[in-house]
Amino acid sequence: MTPRGWAVLTLAALVTALLVAGALLVPWHRPPAPRADQLAALRDLPVDQVARGREFRAALRPGAYGALALGLVVALLLGFTPLGARLVELAGRPFGDHWIARAVLGGLAVVLVADLLTLPFAAWRHAVLTRYGLSTHGWSGWTVDLLKSYAVSAVIGAVALLGFYTVTRLAPRWWWAFGAAGAAGLVVLLSFVLPVLVEPVFNRFTPMEQGPLRTELMAMAARDGVPVRDVLVADASRRTKAVNAYVSGLGPTRRVVVYDTLLREATPAEVTSVVAHELGHARDRDVAVGTLTGALGAAAVVVALHLLGSWGPLTRLAGVDSVAEPRAFGLLIALVTVAGLVTAPVQAAVSRRVEARADAHALALTGDPATFEAMQRRLAGVNLADPDPPRWEYLWSASHPSTVERMAAARAYARETGR
Ligand SMILES: [Zn+2]
Repeated sequence: MTPRGWAVLTLAALVTALLVAGALLVPWHRPPAPRADQLAALRDLPVDQVARGREFRAALRPGAYGALALGLVVALLLGFTPLGARLVELAGRPFGDHWIARAVLGGLAVVLVADLLTLPFAAWRHAVLTRYGLSTHGWSGWTVDLLKSYAVSAVIGAVALLGFYTVTRLAPRWWWAFGAAGAAGLVVLLSFVLPVLVEPVFNRFTPMEQGPLRTELMAMAARDGVPVRDVLVADASRRTKAVNAYVSGLGPTRRVVVYDTLLREATPAEVTSVVAHELGHARDRDVAVGTLTGALGAAAVVVALHLLGSWGPLTRLAGVDSVAEPRAFGLLIALVTVAGLVTAPVQAAVSRRVEARADAHALALTGDPATFEAMQRRLAGVNLADPDPPRWEYLWSASHPSTVERMAAARAYARETGR
């Protein structure tokens, strides 16, 4: 069999593995959240809170969709015209067109151009967040965060670019196989190291102080059979009023993190409810499953890029000989951007199912639907959520069930269990 034949076979195997993982690991059965309960929950929310959430979301929308559209146009221009190749050549010129300069500096230049062109929209977003009082750190703090995220992306990007183009040079016919393995490995590595290497770049994490709340949370985790070494508090208040919590990391780097804003805004019972949700993620190994499917997806993307990229009309459009050369990096970005847009609704749907399961876990673990509902109400209020967002936007991008869905799930649970 030719290398191309192997690539087709590998892609088929990866896609099958993804579908099987999706069928087996995604909780397709979703706990009930009847629409009638959702509408009742919506009526119970303060009218001005709902109006303010909707107004805020409407204010964000033009910037969000503007960024999306411009990002797509820039990616298409850099990928499906020779502009991307030209940019990579330009970046390599001061270094005698050395391939490493083209691979690393050229690749980073392509990404930077796309980022800089959409920067005004990011600034717009920050201005809206500030106007609505959600963002607490001024423009200087925002700029520092932006530079930090550029720096982090540049480091990770440089390593990935250098690795990738080294492989395409050393194994011109089989690079896709090594590339797929490397991409999958990178996803797994990042899952391990992001919480310990990257998250501390943006926030300070301190163990939750000793007291009744911490004791209660640790006892709940033990009761749940989820070994948690510590609950960490992130100093999110230096940039936002929003409240949140999350789990990240794998194995030794796994942690439950709550925002300090949550501790300030919510009652201890509500914090317990949120942490119970996070324990649901830990118990169901959602980070590990996400990492596994992410790794399979990344490998599939590399093989698909190889197959698509050896298609003559595409490489001619980009003005390159092969998708494996640094000059074709713009083409890779364009293809990945389009794939990301097309698969966004699927990713959002999977994420919502996983979140609904964590909610169900929180309800079962705490047995306290009233507090769960109060917490959802508070989350929506502080974070200026639209409790019942437009359907198309929800299907396109919502990573969590809507506020009224989560409240309805609590009401359905309360009815079912007689609490
Ligand atoms: Zn969650």
